[in-house]
Amino acid sequence: MSIIKDIDIQLIKKYDRPGPRYTSYPPAPAFSSSFTADDYLRSLKDNNTPEVDAEMSLYYHIPFCDTLCYFCGCNMLITHSRERISEYLQYLRREMELSAPYFKRNRRVGQLHWGGGTPSYLSPDEIRSLAASIKEHFSFSPDIEAGVEIDPRGLTFEHMQAFREYGFNRVSMGVQDFNPKVQEAVNRIQPEEITRDAVDWSRKLGFKSVNLDMIYGLPYQTLASFEDSLRKVVAISPERIAVFNFAHVPWLKSHQKLIDKNTLPPPEMKLEILKMTIELLTSSGYIYIGMDHFARPDDELAVAQKEKTLYRNFQGYSTHSGADLYAFGNSAISQFNHVYSQNYKSLKDYYDAIESRRFPVVLGYKMTEDDIIRQHVIMRLMCDMELNKRDVERKAGINFDEYFAAALPKLDEFIQDNLLKLTNDKIIITDMGRLVVRNIAMVFDAYLERMMKEKPIFSRTV
Ligand code: SF4
Repeated sequence: MSIIKDIDIQLIKKYDRPGPRYTSYPPAPAFSSSFTADDYLRSLKDNNTPEVDAEMSLYYHIPFCDTLCYFCGCNMLITHSRERISEYLQYLRREMELSAPYFKRNRRVGQLHWGGGTPSYLSPDEIRSLAASIKEHFSFSPDIEAGVEIDPRGLTFEHMQAFREYGFNRVSMGVQDFNPKVQEAVNRIQPEEITRDAVDWSRKLGFKSVNLDMIYGLPYQTLASFEDSLRKVVAISPERIAVFNFAHVPWLKSHQKLIDKNTLPPPEMKLEILKMTIELLTSSGYIYIGMDHFARPDDELAVAQKEKTLYRNFQGYSTHSGADLYAFGNSAISQFNHVYSQNYKSLKDYYDAIESRRFPVVLGYKMTEDDIIRQHVIMRLMCDMELNKRDVERKAGINFDEYFAAALPKLDEFIQDNLLKLTNDKIIITDMGRLVVRNIAMVFDAYLERMMKEKPIFSRTV
């Protein structure tokens, strides 16, 4: 993997269409309410028999934020009520207590993630208290990878100390853009110094990996202004950088109506920004992992990609493939035993279920044999940027070319455009093909056609 340059914008534009991000396969719109709390309980029991040995990954959703960022696409709630936050933390504990008796004792937790919302909106005492409750129920591996999403605004050194005390060692923070005019237009005023302070504190306290999130396509951004922001990020030298494409979807996220669409950069400029971003970051020593993610070569994300142990889950790229993901909190999605299970999004429904001692499951999905085969194909393409057809045949007991006879001709266009190479045994995505990896994965998606007909739910692929 090398420096990527001379990106052909017209070629990339050709592939720009709505498509899943493949944080799961099947994608979340395939989940159904016919999957119930009883199904979850059955799967939970099946996944905790004496012979199950898979590592666990835990996710906790903290939905609260102090102020509304107009671009936000997360599942969050703005509140200034500390009582409301404290009430939620009680329910989060009770949700853990509901499932804890079913977990096999001493099952190793190799990964922990707090997302949101803003987990750092909790007070240092609340952080300590929630982390202590989690530790009461689960056994952490000594080399646990524990990450938290923080907001540098309102963050103190004491918050970071509290996270570190309880074993957090990865941190991810939103920057989006350093330009004050852009920050004002999206209602997220975050002076450069406070981002630098948050990174300095992380390093001082021994956090192993720092990720900075950027967004392009925001109001008033230009190629030059975003390049300036990106150079400032590179100067901070985080281990990872994520650069997301802003999707302005006010019909799905009504608060995005607060953004004046006339201030948004046009699609052509966004493509120029994407080209500049990939060229700048790869020539600054970052590996282009795929989609929105870049990592330094020694960061575990890049190492995992090299060792083919990278995975995708609801937090994006993850290093612990094979771990069973158990998620807690409103809207959180668990994934284990070929099952997906999502909690209620509304706090009222989530609380009501827990009050009646039911798992707060609203939707879910039990995968079929075909889903399992396609999930493997899509995940390996998205993570390894190649697929060994013989591995799939060995795992699934199929003849790859026969099984995917209808899909394979759709790869021809990518081959002609030098985005893909086929050998007898492998499908290999080229460096330029990384930009359209979602499109390549879409060829193997059995749900796509039906979902695309239903409603515009997916973001654009480029
Ligand atoms: S802090 Fe994050 S989750 Fe909260 S509103 Fe802003 S972007 Fe959304």
